[in-house]
Amino acid sequence: MILLFFFILGSIWGSFSNVCIYRLPINDGIALSRSSCPGCKKVIKWYDNIPLISFIALRAKCRNCEFRINTQYFVVELLAAISFSLIYIIYGLSITTLLLLVLTIFFVIIFFIDLKHFIIPNELTFPLMFIGFIKSFIPNLNQNLFPNFINSLIGGLVGYFIVWLIIFLYKKIRNKEGMGLGDAKLLSAIGFWFGWASIPIVIFFASLIALIYVTPSLIKKSKSLSAEIPFGPYLIVGCVVFIIYGNYIKSILFNA
Ligand SMILES: [Zn+2]
Repeated sequence: MILLFFFILGSIWGSFSNVCIYRLPINDGIALSRSSCPGCKKVIKWYDNIPLISFIALRAKCRNCEFRINTQYFVVELLAAISFSLIYIIYGLSITTLLLLVLTIFFVIIFFIDLKHFIIPNELTFPLMFIGFIKSFIPNLNQNLFPNFINSLIGGLVGYFIVWLIIFLYKKIRNKEGMGLGDAKLLSAIGFWFGWASIPIVIFFASLIALIYVTPSLIKKSKSLSAEIPFGPYLIVGCVVFIIYGNYIKSILFNA
């Protein structure tokens, strides 16, 4: 029963994330106006705006003008619903769960904005850094997952300067920008959340997954090596791998 609650809660926050993904990059107010159909501009009725259900009921079309609703809306809602459910299954009713739910919402929004627009807005990374740091002062925090405030602060700084250094060197060598400062702020936020030791592990998995994903298109020559790829989504997936397997990896790396 509680699991169902988390699933529904996730789908509602997924729906809110969709609004942010759509409006943040074009600097449109988030809470001010109600959603309208991009096709016919008609305001969407509440019963056509129910997360997950409306998309299926309307068969991905606007009721008024048959405008095709992007499948991404459904994917985001489902992703958030499943993530919320899994976090509850693993961490129960706890502060850890609450923190990870907040992180999930930010990650989902950043993932899809970067994927579509190649930007990571400061409106998202700055609050994420801030929450990542101040949460260190919550008493009885899950120490398997979250660092103390000193480690958090070092993590935030290391995360930022590693990407800054990569950008700097890449510019020197190839006279081009490989990554953006948005990536630096995102990795900094991850450092604030999970401490300095998370940084190399997240970078490793992000690079590995990016390589696996990009290699087929390089072989087929449909993309060149210099083609722009958003790195934010890979950092986020790398961070999820860290959250799941981080303790295992850290025990191998640092206690050997
Ligand atoms: Zn319409």
